[in-house]
Amino acid sequence: MTAKFKRSDGREFDELRPIEAKVGVVPNADGSAMYKSGDTIAIAAVYGPRKMHPQHQQNPSKGQLRCDYNMISFSVSERIRPGKNRRSTEISEITKWALEPVLLLGMYPNQVVDIFIDIIQADAGTRCAGINAASLALAHAGIPMKEMVSSIAVGKLDKTLVTDLTKEEEDYEGGEGPTDIPISMTHDGKITHMQLDGKIGVEQLKDAVDLAKEACEKIYEIQKKALKDAIDMGNGEKK
Ligand code: UDP
Repeated sequence: MTAKFKRSDGREFDELRPIEAKVGVVPNADGSAMYKSGDTIAIAAVYGPRKMHPQHQQNPSKGQLRCDYNMISFSVSERIRPGKNRRSTEISEITKWALEPVLLLGMYPNQVVDIFIDIIQADAGTRCAGINAASLALAHAGIPMKEMVSSIAVGKLDKTLVTDLTKEEEDYEGGEGPTDIPISMTHDGKITHMQLDGKIGVEQLKDAVDLAKEACEKIYEIQKKALKDAIDMGNGEKK
């Protein structure tokens, strides 16, 4: 790692893209949020807790979380075919794993909390933006949570670790090839989700987790501010 390293968009190796976060963006939902990181924009809407349908999926010992991640057709320049595909099914499941550990679902037997995530613009890091938006939307919906979850991708450009990759960086083929490590964690550093696409040694992976921790601390502050701003504006209450 070197602090002198400059990226194509001028960022430092550990610098996040400009972030915007706002809650209450979908008035019909019980909770909602927008999370923007550079040119990646995610909208999350939460419905519930409500009775689980189909009924045979009800669990009398605890409530359940359902996540639906979707990249909408115009989110990238090459139009995406609408509907579910393998990638969106996988990311929906991963989002559920990232968020479930912080939710007190034991309070809601036979019920379900639904989260719908739409990526309206994509420039890499969409699963992380979706998780950040969803975590905010859950808090905005008043779902009891032990912690917020914050998420970021760390990757490698040649041999250098960088935080919050753009699509151009994610596709970088030089050196050891592209490496992308999306990580989600609670404010006290408990990792709830981690993926690794590419190659990395153990020592550098530890550095990557440290970089993700630094980034997630910054994201957490922005998430907290978005919730506080909504409360100050009288928009922080579940309808
Ligand atoms: N992407 C695309 N078309 C697709 C899927 C992905 O153009 O059907 C782009 C989009 O910019 C996305 C990026 O590829 O953000 C990286 O996708 P990946 O599967 O690595 O997930 P992400 O980094 O978005 O979490």
